[in-house]
Amino acid sequence: MTALVLVLIASELVAQSTQVYDAGHHTLKVQQTKMGSLFEITVVDPDPVHGEQVINDAFREIDRIESLISSWRDDSETSRINAQAGIAPVVVTRETFDLVARSQKVSKLTNGAFDITIGSVLTLWDFKTRAPAVPDASQIQQALKLVDYRLIELDLEALTVFLPRKGMRLGLGAIGKGYAANRAAALIRAAGIMGGVVNAGGDLFVFGKDGDDLPWKISIAHPREGNRRLAELRLLDQAIVTSGDYERFFKVNGERYSHIIDPRTGSPTRSLQSATLICPDAEVADALATALFVLGVEGLDLVDRLTGFSAIVVDWEGEVHMTRDLKIRLGNETP
Ligand code: ADP
Ligand code: MG
Repeated sequence: MTALVLVLIASELVAQSTQVYDAGHHTLKVQQTKMGSLFEITVVDPDPVHGEQVINDAFREIDRIESLISSWRDDSETSRINAQAGIAPVVVTRETFDLVARSQKVSKLTNGAFDITIGSVLTLWDFKTRAPAVPDASQIQQALKLVDYRLIELDLEALTVFLPRKGMRLGLGAIGKGYAANRAAALIRAAGIMGGVVNAGGDLFVFGKDGDDLPWKISIAHPREGNRRLAELRLLDQAIVTSGDYERFFKVNGERYSHIIDPRTGSPTRSLQSATLICPDAEVADALATALFVLGVEGLDLVDRLTGFSAIVVDWEGEVHMTRDLKIRLGNETP
């Protein structure tokens, strides 16, 4: 067995960016904080200088996307759309326009379980305060009147997005990291890199082969038992995205509240501990993982109907469920 030789080639070991080169496998890995999460990009490249350049370009692309769609920046296109809710349509880039249009498609597919207009309700569940509280039922009902992806008015000719009611809020938090992963991976591949992994805060896209010339091995962790693996898969050109309540949640009187809201009730979902989706597109995987987290175990039927899509979920009691194809693949069921 050959020992892994990890050579640190980064002298700028600042908190925000670390990089590690594995000379034996020609694998360069760089971590940076983006979109409020830890991102990690891995490339297989015998030339680490070139690899580093490509990764830096990919991170710049992620920065560009973040400034376009981040809800935390006042000057982003989504913030401008929100500021003009109930007032006027906002001219945006084709890129943002298309992302909103594709989000609406996912909403349609999931019967509104995924809804980028959840923002008005989301602000009631303030997860960031020191003493988070559960909002009043009447407040939730009021805010829910502003949640409906079908209300978003898109004008392709004028390239405008309009939220017709005052107080409506649009947010791309459940799809943006997946989109960024797609774009970063496309850029890296276009630069001639044959294999890599873009980990966008837990939203993964793997392409080509790893340093051993094998498809990348991905482990899915159990949401409550860190050491337990739900599955281990070798994936080729696939995205694998998990929505869970274990990374971002708060507790009030011992009750656990997640950051994913069920648009039907206006409250954090309570059906799953985690939902993992696997498909060839990181943006779709991101959005569908969020939808699946809302839909619960029943949502697996929807995924079963989509060719090339797999999912594995852990329910509130900790029981594991998966799509038919995964059961076959993992050998739990004869085909
Ligand atoms: P993470 O960002 O932790 O990977 P998700 O991709 O599931 O998780 O996105 C969760 C974020 O999406 C929330 O923080 C919130 O901003 C937003 N959100 C919450 N509920 C919904 C929903 N039903 N549909 C669309 N976006 C949602
Ligand atoms: Mg998501």
